[in-house]
Amino acid sequence: MHYLSTRGGIAPVGFTDAVMMGLATDGGLLVPADIPQIDTGTLRAWSGLRFQELALEVMTPFVGEEIPRADLRALIDASYATFSHPEVTPVVEADGVRILELFHGPTAAFKDVALQFLGNLFESLLARDGGSLNIVGATSGDTGSAAIYGVRGKQRIQIFILHPKGRVSPIQERQMTTVLDANVHNLAVRGTFDDAQNIVKALFNDLPFKSAYRLGAVNSINWARILAQTVYYFYAWGRISGGDPARRVSFAVPTGNFGDVFAGYLAKRMGLPIDRLIIATNRNDILTRFVHTGAYAVGDEVYQTLSPAMDIQIASNFERYLYFLHDGDTARIRALLADLQATGRLEIEPERQARVRSDFDAVAVSDPETLEQIRATHAASGYILCPHTAVGVRAAGDRDGVVCLATAHPAKFNEAVTAAIGREAAAPPSLRGLMEKEVRCAELEATVGAVKSHLEVTLGALAGGDA
Ligand SMILES: *Cc1c(COP(=O)(O)O)cnc(C)c1O
Repeated sequence: MHYLSTRGGIAPVGFTDAVMMGLATDGGLLVPADIPQIDTGTLRAWSGLRFQELALEVMTPFVGEEIPRADLRALIDASYATFSHPEVTPVVEADGVRILELFHGPTAAFKDVALQFLGNLFESLLARDGGSLNIVGATSGDTGSAAIYGVRGKQRIQIFILHPKGRVSPIQERQMTTVLDANVHNLAVRGTFDDAQNIVKALFNDLPFKSAYRLGAVNSINWARILAQTVYYFYAWGRISGGDPARRVSFAVPTGNFGDVFAGYLAKRMGLPIDRLIIATNRNDILTRFVHTGAYAVGDEVYQTLSPAMDIQIASNFERYLYFLHDGDTARIRALLADLQATGRLEIEPERQARVRSDFDAVAVSDPETLEQIRATHAASGYILCPHTAVGVRAAGDRDGVVCLATAHPAKFNEAVTAAIGREAAAPPSLRGLMEKEVRCAELEATVGAVKSHLEVTLGALAGGDA
């Protein structure tokens, strides 16, 4: 399998290079040159597989010959051994709604499904090809801890995660700063999330620094993350359909950066019998407006909502969808992105919009509606939704046969839960005792210079230690 850039500016690369590159060198996103087609006989056979076996089958055509099957199997087994549920991503039912629980990993959010795999994949590729990787990222909450848990204790990898000091929830902060492995470096910067994000962007744009210090990214644009997330769409379909290819299933997907829902789109393009993919957004509704109007228009500001992981203006994976919507016409993608850059807006042709509407439904859900959904589901079934999941359940409405993706454990967002039902959700073991544990974190000014010299000093000391 070869990978191309959505912007058409790179020679085709294999899976390993696509993973290590993260963002394509022309600024675009990496996409597979073609989408493997899964026939109905294969679907039927896959429907009985355990999650790990299914992951091996779904990933194999995308990985190609680059990783031997036994090695890929070992990577997958190691990645999902850290999950607390034997099914990894079980489907449960609450108040007549099917819930695909994606939060049984070490940090209790769905990002573990992809980042546990990506961490092991990085480690194995570095062990095989040599070299080392220094991951740098900014987080407003969930991604940082999932990335840290993905690579903690791993050889040849250091991870530096910037978070805005005092502006992530106490649980989220502790999930990061209580990880004491020597390769984990938490940096609290005295500024906002945007400051932290801009510092990271500046470091990656400093190409000499980036290559001298072998900086790598773990944000949701890495192809391996999409690939790992595609697996649970197949898994949920198998549990529900019993392998009957005539059985179509719809999914409601709480959406921020369009990574999760793009994975669902990929599954559909591979031949999984998906009826509707419902994009569920909060008040930050750029994607919902796009589906309804064909115009992707950046609003004035990012609103803070009860579902903070979806408080996003520009969905970083959206470019991948644009690429497939335009049948790989990279010149057209470049023109659309230039419009977006210049005017904050891009618009697709009406005949394309008809295709968008056949691919997706989209619903924006307000904070009061989110709380009302948590309350209603709890009253009817005793099941507690996290606010992101509640956005998806609300968006599904009374449509039949929808699987709602549960993207976080409710105990991570107990403020919203308490506002809805008057009490907290009980924490799973991974979230217990965090406030009592030892922490390690450096505090820095929110400037590129401060972070750069911190990286230089830390990595310089490590290199010295090796000599
Ligand atoms: C990241 C995240 C989302 C949004 O996922 P995208 O892939 O960015 O669309 C939704 N819910 C939770 C809890 C998350 O952490």
